Amino acid sequence: MTTRHVGVFGGTFDPIHHGHLRSAEEIAEDLGLERVLFVPSAEPPHKKRSNLAGAAHRLAMVRLAVRGNPLFRASDLEARRGGRSYSVDTLRQVQRRLGGDAEIHFFMGLDAFREIETWKNFGEIFALANVVVTSRPPEAVEPIVETLPVAVQAHFCYRRGRGWIHRSGHTILFRPVTPLDISASDIRARVARRQSIRYLLPPSVERYIDRHRLYRKGS
Ligand code: ATP
Repeated sequence: MTTRHVGVFGGTFDPIHHGHLRSAEEIAEDLGLERVLFVPSAEPPHKKRSNLAGAAHRLAMVRLAVRGNPLFRASDLEARRGGRSYSVDTLRQVQRRLGGDAEIHFFMGLDAFREIETWKNFGEIFALANVVVTSRPPEAVEPIVETLPVAVQAHFCYRRGRGWIHRSGHTILFRPVTPLDISASDIRARVARRQSIRYLLPPSVERYIDRHRLYRKGS
């Protein structure tokens, strides 16, 4: 039986932009993944923002953004579950759906990885999936290759030439990606100021934001 390698990329995606898409494309190519699931959260537990676009809007934008890429899929798992979205619950669900012959690679930016100790049942994440930590400007990914957050170290041992290995056999990989210093918060701020967001995100997503008057002041 051949193993299917599937990427899972969770985030707020408010909105999804070329920084997210390009890093997923590079990781998918690098690891030879057969699919990447983009999973917009319902309520992100780590971002307290009252002006978050609704989960249905964020999912719709992800659907538009992945259209035309045969590797990419939008997943409504968290949007449908509702409430706070915890990655550990999502990874359990993905694993159940894919079955035993699938290997999951869970993507996260370095900024998110630094906070992983605060995530619900973070230790179980490593038993469910390989973790791929990607660089996110302005930070490169190299500086912490040799050092994991202390609470994470307890779950891994370091093998020369192989890196960090979990007792389940899963690994943590640190992967630099082409630095695209784009952030969703900057895009939202530009929309609020009525500035252009062209070339920061796919044109279909830009049109969606405009049509639904997202991120405008007072909307
Ligand atoms: P905000 O600017 O509002 O914080 P964000 O884009 O950082 O938004 P998310 O949508 O939650 O927030 O990001 C999902 C994941 O994508 C995170 O792991 C984050 O590190 C990563 N990411 C976000 N922007 C980039 C980028 N420009 N390049 C690489 N990775 C990114």
